[in-house]
Amino acid sequence: MKTKLTKQEAQEKIEEFFKKKSFVKEDVKKIKRLAMKFNIKLGKLRQNFCKKCLSQLKGKIRISKTHKTIECIHCGYKNKFKITEKINFR
Ligand SMILES: [Zn+2]
Repeated sequence: MKTKLTKQEAQEKIEEFFKKKSFVKEDVKKIKRLAMKFNIKLGKLRQNFCKKCLSQLKGKIRISKTHKTIECIHCGYKNKFKITEKINFR
């Protein structure tokens, strides 16, 4: 795969990717690699996939004052996210 993307294009590609209703972990890996290459911070987009198994993140959600924890239905890993004002979870 030849990539002659600019950082802007890469960013758009990443955002576009996470707008999809479903994705597989292989694609998440590619997107993560792309982000790393361009030094793009995924920020809140990270809430779309499990930190451990990279599957699309679905599962039990627990919310505390400072954190939101989502237990991955695939591997059971508890993904902890800091709650910020600009939260945008789908
Ligand atoms: Zn998982």
